[in-house]
Parts: sequence; structure tokens; C-alpha cells
Amino acid sequence: MTLMTLPNPPRVSLGHLPTPFHLLKRISADLDGPRLWIKRDDLSGLLMTGNKVRKLEFLVAQALEEGCDTLITCGGIQSNHCRATASAAVQLGMEVCLILREDNEPTVDGNLFLDHLLGARIVSVSKQRFFSELPKLVEESCDFYTKRGRRPFVIPLGGSDEIGLWGYCAAGAELRDDFENNNISPSHIVVATGSGGTQAGLTAGAEVHGLSASVVGMAVCDSAAYFQRKVRSDLEGWIQRYNIPLDVDALRIQTNDDYVGAGYGLAGPEVYETIRYVAQREGIVLDPVYTGKAFHGLLQEIRAGHFKDSKDIVFIHTGGLFGLFPHACHFGFESL
Ligand SMILES: *Cc1c(COP(=O)(O)O)cnc(C)c1O
Repeated sequence: MTLMTLPNPPRVSLGHLPTPFHLLKRISADLDGPRLWIKRDDLSGLLMTGNKVRKLEFLVAQALEEGCDTLITCGGIQSNHCRATASAAVQLGMEVCLILREDNEPTVDGNLFLDHLLGARIVSVSKQRFFSELPKLVEESCDFYTKRGRRPFVIPLGGSDEIGLWGYCAAGAELRDDFENNNISPSHIVVATGSGGTQAGLTAGAEVHGLSASVVGMAVCDSAAYFQRKVRSDLEGWIQRYNIPLDVDALRIQTNDDYVGAGYGLAGPEVYETIRYVAQREGIVLDPVYTGKAFHGLLQEIRAGHFKDSKDIVFIHTGGLFGLFPHACHFGFESL
């Protein structure tokens, strides 16, 4: 592994980094398999908790570099990415517009509550319009701001593009230090995959920072084939835009779609059970949309013996706490 010289893209400091890294002692003992470690990106901030802040450090810096003063982005009604973007915008004195995909019964709770509290302008659209007319909706929002003399910058779904990719590429350097400090050489880095940018960044970051671990994305929606293409195209865009001396074909892109369940934002009882188990064993809170689903999948894979040759495995806790609250009714506490 030759360490390569990388360009220095613009970056603003938004996250509380580096985040902690530690062993999941009790869960590892329960499993009687590899040791499970956790990267606490849920502690990357309060209103910016989770993985999106790492991407936003580069995306927002690009916006500022281009002289923009307004951020436009989109996502599900409980999008962590949109909430983090709204918070970043306020901190930098920018305006923010969120195009949100309506759910069946949107309650002003969790992330949506915070979006309102942060003063984001919210354009809420039906699922159908969101999927069929997103580019048009984004253009309309851009026009809205341009007409008012403002300069909008569009951040794609989940912040997953060749700019946002830098966030988790840079996290690779943090992980290298974490591994060194704990004297471990994990075989796998496991993360929830929803729009692919975190997986793409980690895949790049592992390569450029000389980690021997392979990155596995646990899909929370869509198919492995879809993410194979999406992650690859983010990586290609990044290599091309920044002239990175890497061959995309040399990068292993691995996504597991066995634990998607009924679809995005829909969790089965096994996911709620895993969230409860992790909370009560380790005092760590996962969310039903991303980390709970992904961690449940990882536990199942370990129990099935798929990691029996591994000594150490790392799970990236990508946050999502606020998305848990709208699901509180699924835990059955009301009946206690
Ligand atoms: C967005 C998100 C993910 C998925 O990351 P992508 O880069 O979109 O694949 C995982 N966990 C949480 C909590 C998220 O908000």
C-alpha cells in the first residue's frame, strides 16, 4: 500500500471530531464470536448527530467557496440529513430549504420537529411527486431563491455525491488512529447504507489510509445491485473530479441487502428487539431506520457464523437518534 497524496478540498469544521471508538464489551461476550467495536459517530454533535455532518463539512464548504448563501436539499419526512443540513445552515448564517417526502401520517416529531424549530423552509410533497418530479421540484426551489437575489446551492439526497464522499474518506484516517491505539486490525467495517455516500467514502478511505478491513454496507432500502452501481458512480465521480490516482475496479464494493425488510423506514419486530437489546446491554441507542436494521443484520451474520474467521469487526454508529422517537409506539411501553 503506497500512501498517496490527496488534494485538499475546502472544508468547514462542523462536527465534534474525532468521535470516540470503543469495544462493545458485553455484546461481544454474548456473541462468542469476533470482538465488536463501535465508532461513535452518533456523538458527532447534538443537532448534527450522525454521519451527515462529515459530508456536510465538505458540501457546505463548497457552497461557501461558490459564494452561495442558501442550502437546498431533500429527503424523507424524518430525514437525519435534512435536519443536520438545517442546523449547519443556521450555524453559518445561511438560509435552508428542505424538500421532504410525505409519509402516511406525518407527525411533527423527531427530525421534522427540529427542522421547524431551526426555521427551515419546508416544501412537503407526496411520495409519488417526490419520486417522479424531484429534479423539477429542486429547480423550482432554486428559482424561488434566485428571484429573491439569493444564491442557492443544491445538496443531493443524503449528501451522497463526489463532494460529500470526502467526509468518510477523511474518517478513514480517524479509524486508522483508532485501530492503532487499540492495537487491532479489524477484518470488516460495517455500516448502514441508505444513499450510498457513507459506504463510498469509507471504501475510498480504507484504501487511501491503508486499512486492511473490507467495508460492508448493510442496505436499509433498495437492492445490493442498486448500491453497487450508486457507490461505484460516486467513487468514479470523485476520482474524476479530484484527479485521484485510484482505479475504481480495484476497490471492493460490498453491499448486503438481506435485512432491508419491508422497505425504507419500515422496521420489523426483530429490529425493535435489537434496539432494546443494545440499549440495555451497552447503553447505546440505535434507530429503527438505519443503525438498528444494520446492527440487527450484523448480529444475524455473526450468529450464522459468517464472520467466524474474524477477530475484530467495527460497526459505524451513524446516528439517527431523533428518528427513533416517532417509532416509540412500536416498543409496547404504553401497555406497561
Ligand atoms: C443517512 C444515514 C445513513 C446512511 O448513510 P448513506 O450515506 O445515506 O448511505 C445511516 N445512518 C443514519 C442514521 C443516517 O441518517
